[in-house]
Amino acid sequence: MSAADLSIAEARSVVLDAVRSLPGERVAVTRARGRVLAQEVRARGDVPPFPSSAMDGYAALPGPANRRLLVIGESRAGAPASQPPQEGEALRISTGAALPGPALAVIPVERASEADGWVTVEQDAQAGRHVREPGEDMRAGQSVLAAGCRLSAAELGVAVAAGHDHLVCTRSPRLAVVCSGDELRPPGAHLGPGQIHNSNAITLSALAESAGAQVVSNEVVADEPARTKTALGAALEHCDVLVISGGVSVGEHDHVKRALGALDVEQRFWRVALRPGRPTWFGVRGDKLVFGLPGNPVSVMVTFLLFARWALAALQGASTAMERQVATLATTLPRLADRDEAVRVRITETGEGRLATPTGPQGSHQLTSMLRAHALLVVEAGARELPGGSRVLVEPI
Ligand code: AMP
Ligand code: MG
Repeated sequence: MSAADLSIAEARSVVLDAVRSLPGERVAVTRARGRVLAQEVRARGDVPPFPSSAMDGYAALPGPANRRLLVIGESRAGAPASQPPQEGEALRISTGAALPGPALAVIPVERASEADGWVTVEQDAQAGRHVREPGEDMRAGQSVLAAGCRLSAAELGVAVAAGHDHLVCTRSPRLAVVCSGDELRPPGAHLGPGQIHNSNAITLSALAESAGAQVVSNEVVADEPARTKTALGAALEHCDVLVISGGVSVGEHDHVKRALGALDVEQRFWRVALRPGRPTWFGVRGDKLVFGLPGNPVSVMVTFLLFARWALAALQGASTAMERQVATLATTLPRLADRDEAVRVRITETGEGRLATPTGPQGSHQLTSMLRAHALLVVEAGARELPGGSRVLVEPI
């Protein structure tokens, strides 16, 4: 490891130190999927709000089996009965319908037979049987979702059931992508000599959106100093996070670092002791974060996942984004003496827990190694190999 190269952990802490979390804003629940709560959510009332039947059947006062009861009416979901049944009476009741009084029981329809306005119940009836009490799910005032939680189906359902139509979420980070390289052509375009399709533009925007960012621009710039500076300067104006692919290395056609310097972006690190992804650059301008990622298609994804994704989670105040999982390594892996290696692994659940198996050839240009990759396994630099069967920590993708 050259003295200047940071470890993954060191580089991450430099990134996280630079993050100021974004402000909150009110978001309609219908637009909040994938967003992160900036404020906890409390139940506005008891859920369920009233005692209701858990079954289709008959509501009656408690009593023994084999009673014959007069059917006096019906309580349906959304249309409660006005009066409770008295001794010797029953109400037809459907699942979710309000019970019209306290201390009633429900006899399921399967245990009753009705004819000519009378019902015979086979089952004895105890107060509260097959009844859902108010607040069994949430109590009025109870905190049901914590700040920092990311909203998916269950969280949104809980928020609506708890009485909310808007939630306070952190603003989505605005992310700009700039891909540098004379060789890049758009998807599907005919390739001339030496040209390749620009795959990083789409992998980066997909990763960014999965991490909760809003991709506000996605540009390609030629390997030319003035154009690089213009493109990066324009992208910086309208984003919170700028992610650049390629052109960041030390070759004579790599203009990104100099352009960023000229745009007053302050370098925080350059190079990480990592494979793939050593030539990774990070800097800031005010609260804006700038990632200069290596152009190789695997390196760009790995470095985004290891660094930019963490920054996006922190910008959103997300509490659970970066959970790691314990797994057992399926095969012995060599170690690099001077760099950590981010190995793409497939995770399979076995009787003995999770098994992590490398996805295949791990070259930084072999994008297919990202297919079926469930997680990154960071193999720390060292002298000896990492034996198969080792307990390892993996970072789910
Ligand atoms: P660079 O970081 O600019 O030296 O590029 C390293 C390698 O990544 C080269 O083989 C580039 O052709 C390739 N590369 C750079 N940008 C992209 C891109 N946007 N999509 C696919 N490959 C790229
Ligand atoms: Mg290049």
